[in-house]
Amino acid sequence: MIIVMKAGATRQDRDEVLERIKELGYQPHVIHGTTRDVIGAIGDERGKLILHSLESMHGVENIVPILKPYKLASREMKRETTLIRLSDTVAIGGDEIIVMAGPCSVESEEQILECALAVKAAGAQVLRGGAFKPRTSPYSFQGMEEEGLKLLAKARELTGLPVVTEVINPETAELVAEYADILQIGARNSQNFALLKKVGQLKRPVLLKRGMAMSIQEFLMSAEYILSEGNQQVILCERGIRTFETATRNTLDLSAIPVLRGMTHLPVIADPSHGTGNYHYVAPMAYAAVAAGADGLMIEVHPDPERATSDGPQSLKPSKFASMMTTLRKFADAADRRL
Ligand code: PEP
Ligand code: MN
Repeated sequence: MIIVMKAGATRQDRDEVLERIKELGYQPHVIHGTTRDVIGAIGDERGKLILHSLESMHGVENIVPILKPYKLASREMKRETTLIRLSDTVAIGGDEIIVMAGPCSVESEEQILECALAVKAAGAQVLRGGAFKPRTSPYSFQGMEEEGLKLLAKARELTGLPVVTEVINPETAELVAEYADILQIGARNSQNFALLKKVGQLKRPVLLKRGMAMSIQEFLMSAEYILSEGNQQVILCERGIRTFETATRNTLDLSAIPVLRGMTHLPVIADPSHGTGNYHYVAPMAYAAVAAGADGLMIEVHPDPERATSDGPQSLKPSKFASMMTTLRKFADAADRRL
């Protein structure tokens, strides 16, 4: 249920409504609008009729049911797209297209610093790099772990770029949050509900990737797990789904971008690197994602892709990334966005 407060409602009116929602056994979530507050009352659907009693409270304009199973993530709950601040100068969900670029895995100090300087020079606003890697094979490189996090922090110091890196389990989530500006939940963990709850309790923006066999509604339900724990800073990432097609690693579902735009207020980005698995297709799909309305992109960049410990075939060399960024500016312009 959404409780819409009157434009002139006082703080005391709001606090009394919050108290009453808790007494009724629901969890209140306040969203401050420009002219009025709305309050989401989240909890067991079966008893929702009792929430209608709030309608007679002072300062309450009306009560609207949210029919979708995802509540806090829904556009009904919040009409404007959520703006998530990533640093003093960078925010996602506004006019600016945010490009998160860097290697699949952090491999060495030299590699990550070189990469960070190159992507920054080309115009990326966020550095990506995996330190804990969720690999399909237990015999593949598993990441540099805390050492990798330290190198990411060093790269941030050098370039000023905020850092996004993956969290693979609840046990290491706090450690990762000490170093990272954005916590990435990977496709393989996108329905790891214990992990989603954990990052929901941390005070860091979360980049949630779509699972490879996940419907759009299930994707939003995963976001709902994070939001319902109190963390409202969730960025969704379309990174390709499994289909019968084998010419590409995954099928980048670009239609998910406008579909999500209608369903949710959360910002949406696309990852054409994992979406295609082949560096040849990364730039065209990046342009297409911006045309489809993406708020940003995640792009894998490696100074020496042939020697990368993971995802070399889909990684762009810095020079290719720079030329992609030059063309991307024209697409951003055409979409009435900035880059
Ligand atoms: C990654 O970003 O390197 C990664 C493992 O992505 P995904 O979870 O989308 O496969
Ligand atoms: Mn990767």
